Amino acid sequence: MAIKIFVDQGHNPSGFNAGAEGNGLREQDITYTVGAYLADILAADDRFEVRTSRTTPEEVLGYNNTSSLRTRVEMANEWPADYFISIHVNANNNPNINGSEVYVYRTESASYYLAQNILSEIVRRVGTKDNGVRVNSSLYVLRNTDMPAVLVELAYITNTEDAQKLRDDQYQFAYGIYVGLLNYLGLPQL
Ligand SMILES: [Zn+2]
Repeated sequence: MAIKIFVDQGHNPSGFNAGAEGNGLREQDITYTVGAYLADILAADDRFEVRTSRTTPEEVLGYNNTSSLRTRVEMANEWPADYFISIHVNANNNPNINGSEVYVYRTESASYYLAQNILSEIVRRVGTKDNGVRVNSSLYVLRNTDMPAVLVELAYITNTEDAQKLRDDQYQFAYGIYVGLLNYLGLPQL
């Protein structure tokens, strides 16, 4: 039985539930592409089945912010996925804030250990700062998914060095998530 991974590319292309912007980049474009790379990598590995929340860069989910988030959760719950990975890019008013972090609903959970593995592989491959795994029980997609779920903040779009990585290292971010998932599951790289 293949392990079913739901990859959520975080945001809509425009309008409600669009992402952050900075340094000439848009979060929703980066998360779309990193998610598509991750889906391609997983689809090439027989041990996994994968679905993404957005199948084209133009696809809009929901009719307002809440329904956009709810749609992503319902797609994963109805499948049902074994793991839910939501991909985001962070932003801060302070341009010096940088690094990667992964959010989970609570500590000492499957999600928490998956998050630790994903975060350490991203940091090792892309060279972002390790901001650690953080608990946030108010995030909609973490609260409402039925399976272990992580929300990955790849790096800060508002920081110059991070933005360069977000622009140039999108495949490495995706591969880091993949290897982190393998390490969590105790599976070898092919
Ligand atoms: Zn986001």
